[in-house]
Amino acid sequence: MNIVLFGYPNSGKGSLSQKLIDCSFVHISTGDLLRKEVKNNGKYAHMIKYCLDNGKFVDDSIVLDILKNQLSLISNNSNLLLDGIPRTLNQCEELEKLIKIDYAFELVCPKNIIIDRAKNRLVCDKCKRTTSKLIEKDFCSVCGGNLLARVDDNIDLLNKRIDDYEINSKPIRNYYVSKGIYHQVDASISVNITLQQVKRVLKYGNN
Ligand SMILES: [Zn+2]
Repeated sequence: MNIVLFGYPNSGKGSLSQKLIDCSFVHISTGDLLRKEVKNNGKYAHMIKYCLDNGKFVDDSIVLDILKNQLSLISNNSNLLLDGIPRTLNQCEELEKLIKIDYAFELVCPKNIIIDRAKNRLVCDKCKRTTSKLIEKDFCSVCGGNLLARVDDNIDLLNKRIDDYEINSKPIRNYYVSKGIYHQVDASISVNITLQQVKRVLKYGNN
């Protein structure tokens, strides 16, 4: 079974993905794959870094090529959880050629909550756990790593990403509605509440 997660930036896709990994999904985050490509100085590193630094979308063909490579490393029997793709209608269609998508979940969260979360968000440089300045600071309470604000948590960039999302999400939503596999979940309260909604859908199916 394969599912895609999409939703506003900082709507909690990462935290929800962590929970779903515990439910035996293999998590594929295109954001992580792109950052890894930059870190490893891969063939697309320069282009990706430019896009990430300027809040632009990385070209579909690059994202899909990197995704395709990743899929080739994963067993065909795996339950896949895709996060960060699709971001455009074209990516929906191209993704469908690579794998069958069974469920599409959109995480919905009001803009003011997203901005507040971003202002407070920290990521551990060691275990990659996400936390909040409201909960802890400086050092990770789990592994002792350094807690850092993420570079793309810049508020102006975030506003631009939200605007881009609002433009680009509509055709994605329509695409999955037309396939009969679209589900909206409330991501404004807590990740556990979002998870419960997802599990309920997975239990009862697309009807
Ligand atoms: Zn840590």
